[in-house]
Amino acid sequence: MRALRLTAWGEPPAPAEVERPVPRGAEVLVRVEATGLCHSDLHVMAAAAGALPYRLPFTLGHEVAGRIAALGPGTDGVRAGDRVVLYGPWGCGTCDRCDAGRDNYCDRRDTLAWHGAGLGRDGGMAEYVLVPSARHLVPIDDLPADQAAPLSDAGLTSYHAVAGLRHALGKGSTTAVIGVGGLGHLAVQILRATTGSRVLAVDVREDALALADRSGADFGTLVRADTARVLKARTGGAGVDAVLDFVGTTQTLELAVGVLRPGGELAVVGSGGGRLAVSKPGVLPPGFRLSLPFWGTRPELAEVVALARSGAIHVETEHFPLSAAPEAIARLRRGRVRGRAVLVP
Ligand code: NAD
Ligand code: ZN
Ligand code: ZN
Repeated sequence: MRALRLTAWGEPPAPAEVERPVPRGAEVLVRVEATGLCHSDLHVMAAAAGALPYRLPFTLGHEVAGRIAALGPGTDGVRAGDRVVLYGPWGCGTCDRCDAGRDNYCDRRDTLAWHGAGLGRDGGMAEYVLVPSARHLVPIDDLPADQAAPLSDAGLTSYHAVAGLRHALGKGSTTAVIGVGGLGHLAVQILRATTGSRVLAVDVREDALALADRSGADFGTLVRADTARVLKARTGGAGVDAVLDFVGTTQTLELAVGVLRPGGELAVVGSGGGRLAVSKPGVLPPGFRLSLPFWGTRPELAEVVALARSGAIHVETEHFPLSAAPEAIARLRRGRVRGRAVLVP
C-alpha cells in the first residue's frame, strides 16, 4: 500500500510502498478514508534528531477516520465494516490514566517511543492503518470522513482545552482565541456551543479572521502593536477571562498576559516554543492560572463526535489526494490552508 513516511529528521516525508499490515491479537486494521494534516506534523518533520522519543521510519498522520477492514482474532466490541475515528494518543494501556481513557496523560508517556498513531507509530497517511486495540476506536456512523478525521485532534484538543477552562467561562465571560487555524476555528465553535462565553479572535491573516467570523466569533482583529488595547476595549477595559493560545510564541504568550483580567486563565496549546517568566510580584495578573493541555481523553472524543453529528460544529476543510501531500504540507507551512487540510488516499 502507499504511505507517507518520515525517514530522516529535518527532512520532508517520503512516499513509499509498504506491506499492508495483517491484524494479530487485539489489533484492528482500518481502511483510511481521510487523514487531517496538523501543524504538529510540521513540528515533527522539523525536529532535530533526538528531540522526540520516536524511532524512524514511521508513517505520519494522527487524525484518521475510516472503515474497519479486518480484525485480529482477539478483538472485542467492533465489527468489520464499522466506520470509526481513531483516538490518537496511545498510552501504555495499563496505568490508571489509560484505564480511565486518559491515554493523553499516560504515566508512561515519557518512556514510550511514541505518542500515538502517526507520532512514533505508523499513522494514517496511508491506505490502511493498524490500530493496536479496539479501545482506540470511536464510532462515527455516517459522519463524513473529512469531518470525522480532524475531530480526533483539532476537535478533541480544542474541546479538552475548553473543558479545562469551563469554570471560568460562564455567561458574561469573554475568551480570546489566538490563532484561528485547524484547531482555533473549532475552538471558537466549541466555545460557542458549550460555554456562555463571548469570543474574540486574533490572527495574523485576514482570511483566518473571516473563518473566525464564520465560526461564530463575536470580534476579530489582526495582531498589531496595540492588539492588547483593542481586545481590552472590547471588554469595557477589564480584560478577558481566558485565553486559548494556539500559537505559543513569546509574542502570543505576552499578548495573552497583557489582556487577561485578574483571576484570568491561559491555556497554551500551540507548540511555538515561547517563554513566559513567572515572578511574584511581577507582570502576571493576580490569580493567574496556566495550563498546557495535551490532546484529550477518549470519552471527550465521543462527545466531540456527538457535537459534530448534531451539527453544532463543522470543520472547514481543504481536500488533497495523498499523492499531493507535499503541496498540502507546503501550503500549511506558508499559512495558506483555510481550516484543516485533509488527505484522501
Ligand atoms: P494551523 O497552522 O492550522 O493554525 C495556526 C493559526 O495561527 C493560523 O491561522 C496562523 O495564521 C495563526 N498564527 C500564526 N502566527 C500567529 C501569531 N503570531 N499570532 C496570531 N496568530 C498566528 O495550526 P494547527 O494545526 O491549528 O495547530 C496550532 C498549534 O497547536 C501548533 O503549534 C500545533 O503544533 C499545536 N497543537 C498542539 C496540540 C496539543 O495537544 N497541545 C495538539 C494539536 C496541535
Ligand atoms: Zn495534531
Ligand atoms: Zn498508560
